[in-house]
Amino acid sequence: MIKSYLRFWGVRGSYASPFLTHLKVGGNTSCVEINVDDHVLICDAGTGIIPFGDKIIAEGINKNLLIVFTHYHWDHICGLPFFKPAFIPDWNINFFGPGESIREMKQTLNSQMQTPYFPVGAENWMANIDYINPRTTELSSGPIKITYYNVHHPGITYGYKIKAGSKTIIYVSDNECQFLDKSIKQKMIEFSEEEQQMFKTMNQEEYKHELKAIQDADILIHDAQYTPEDYEKKRGWGHSCYVDVVNYAIDARVKELYLYHHDPCNDDDAIDKIYENCQTIIQQRGALLKCHVAREGLEINLA
Ligand SMILES: [Zn+2]
Ligand SMILES: [Zn+2]
Repeated sequence: MIKSYLRFWGVRGSYASPFLTHLKVGGNTSCVEINVDDHVLICDAGTGIIPFGDKIIAEGINKNLLIVFTHYHWDHICGLPFFKPAFIPDWNINFFGPGESIREMKQTLNSQMQTPYFPVGAENWMANIDYINPRTTELSSGPIKITYYNVHHPGITYGYKIKAGSKTIIYVSDNECQFLDKSIKQKMIEFSEEEQQMFKTMNQEEYKHELKAIQDADILIHDAQYTPEDYEKKRGWGHSCYVDVVNYAIDARVKELYLYHHDPCNDDDAIDKIYENCQTIIQQRGALLKCHVAREGLEINLA
């Protein structure tokens, strides 16, 4: 039987939070492994990629890896300098992410390892490192097929649509799904009636766009960093409120939602509470959506 799974190696947003109060959910930052018959795709290289590197070296089965980045904020790249396979000669590592050119991508990824930030530069990587042209529109790692689209987050940020096994997985680590709607509401009183109508139309288009991107996904892994109270204060910072994410997932007929990119200020109890609130929304709407908390070490069978 073909082995096919998804594993969460890092589920935390913003910064690693290895606090005793956070360990049930996990403290490592963004990193997800998708493995189909030992063909591997890694989404983001937060601190979660460090234990993944140790595991794959120990297994020693496949030395070809595709690593895709949603964007290059620290929490998504800071595991890379400690990713051991990059320092071993016969490994092949392919990087892909947003950028104008290979040169720009290389510069972006390598600069965090330059003096005075880090003692060992990327020129010390001994693996065969390849940067895939950022203009490439379709990627694959064996039978795993990958496309991407733009999401709402400062700078250029991608959401990834992944076909693996029989499942469609959408990986959206950082995205403010209600960006336009909430920004408009805040300023509504300043607009004329005509402008208000125009923004209303734009907002409806945006809602359709968001829904279309995640429509009918088997598994949606989505930024759910903020509570409604947080979101009031942090609108426009590029992260979603879990209430919006659950409602979007229901509207788009997603089968399973994994709340992801947890705020490091939220301990295990706070995330339990978020989970309970999500279940209440689902019940109130009479929806079939299955909602879970993405936890470090959690493995989903994709067969
Ligand atoms: Zn992030
Ligand atoms: Zn970010």
